Amino acid sequence: MMHAVEPERSHLWEQKRSKLDAIKAKNGAKKRKKGEHRVVFNKNGTTSKIKKKTDLKFDSSFESGNLAKATRISKYEYELELSFDNDKGHFTQWFYFSVRRMVKGRTYKFNIINFYKSGSSFRDGMKPLSYSEVKGWRRRAADVKYYEGEKKKDQSSNYNILTWTYKQDHDVKKMFFCHCYPYTYSDLCSYLEDVKLKINKNIVLIDQVLSKTVDGRDCKLLTVTSSGDDSNKQGVVITARVHPGESNASYMMKGVLDFLLSDDEQAQALRNLFVFKIVPMLNPDGVFKGNYRCNSIGQDLNRHYDDPSLEMHPVIVNLKTVISDLVKERGVLLYCDLHGHSTKRNVFMYGCSDESNVLKDNEIKVFPKMMSMQPMFSYKDCSFNLDQVKTNTGRIVMFQKMGIMNSYTMESSFGITDKDSPKAAHLNRTDFENMGKSLLKTLYLYQTQKHIVDQVRDDLLRSRGDFRSKL
Ligand SMILES: [Zn+2]
Repeated sequence: MMHAVEPERSHLWEQKRSKLDAIKAKNGAKKRKKGEHRVVFNKNGTTSKIKKKTDLKFDSSFESGNLAKATRISKYEYELELSFDNDKGHFTQWFYFSVRRMVKGRTYKFNIINFYKSGSSFRDGMKPLSYSEVKGWRRRAADVKYYEGEKKKDQSSNYNILTWTYKQDHDVKKMFFCHCYPYTYSDLCSYLEDVKLKINKNIVLIDQVLSKTVDGRDCKLLTVTSSGDDSNKQGVVITARVHPGESNASYMMKGVLDFLLSDDEQAQALRNLFVFKIVPMLNPDGVFKGNYRCNSIGQDLNRHYDDPSLEMHPVIVNLKTVISDLVKERGVLLYCDLHGHSTKRNVFMYGCSDESNVLKDNEIKVFPKMMSMQPMFSYKDCSFNLDQVKTNTGRIVMFQKMGIMNSYTMESSFGITDKDSPKAAHLNRTDFENMGKSLLKTLYLYQTQKHIVDQVRDDLLRSRGDFRSKL
């Protein structure tokens, strides 16, 4: 038979129990602090002095590296935080860090806990990239998940978590993990030095400084054409890496340059037809720091094309002068800014629109439609708009203020194509490079094969008619 406990004694017991619980919790926290939850890497702060043999050694103090902090939460599991592009805690997507002491045969778990965007291709099957000197780049992460986490620093919504496991399958001193194949400012400089030595003497390649960046780096401007009279040539402008975390854009740009500077007949014809103004890396400071969207002072340059300032966006001020001069001097047939896209599949374009002029509106779509004759390009993913939130982007400013009709961004998924495509596997560097080459091959067709252009234009107009008759 149960006896009722006297109220006074019951109260004392409760007090004692909560005291015991508090002590237990305190001891537990101490134990976790000493044992498992330990900061093993902190780029700008202090790291735990306690080390265990099994602790991994993280680092990101190299070009484009951007891991801010690593915390060991159990023997083989780590919580990782990325550096933000600005002090508001915004813009994290790109990641790149190294890890030492991974042991062959062991499985490790990594959780990056402060992704800014809720959407990500990691939700759709993309895997993080890993690299070692022995095995090169591979996508062999397992159990990849992307989901909502803690409140953001500005409390507007929640951060997102990317988690994956990785079974180490070989002995090597250092592994690297990243969002997409890195392409640093140094990579660009050495590529340009290399290419200058290799190209044929009849190719004109002028390598100039477009502008000093906020941090004092040289932003490169390349002029490419053929030697001889260029008075009848139109201008073409191609730029990339305004968003530093979109490294796939640099591989598309490499494809553009490799082809344009080659002895291929179509490349020769293009140099005879056009003067190319190319800025391969619009944001070298952001690329160096490992930012995702901004320059070194937290400014998204692709939101300041209409009102750039010399102090905060000097590259954009100088780029606009070059393009404006080119428009006046010879006209610009094509402006294309190369980007990576964090959620959509495939490679596609964004163009502008003109609802007041059906023929012009149709004409804008001809070049992207012709791009879809090339492998991997997806016309159904293209979009044509003058969205209010994008009025300060390069694409819309070149269209509205410089009068360039064929003003596009070419966007590539960081790694995935359509589920049902024969190449549903991940995109690699050669795929990105081929898309750059496809841009120029399409430009060649667009300028030299009038009958194809006419056909595409008519087909597009006809499909508009069909569409309207259904309304
Ligand atoms: Zn972008």
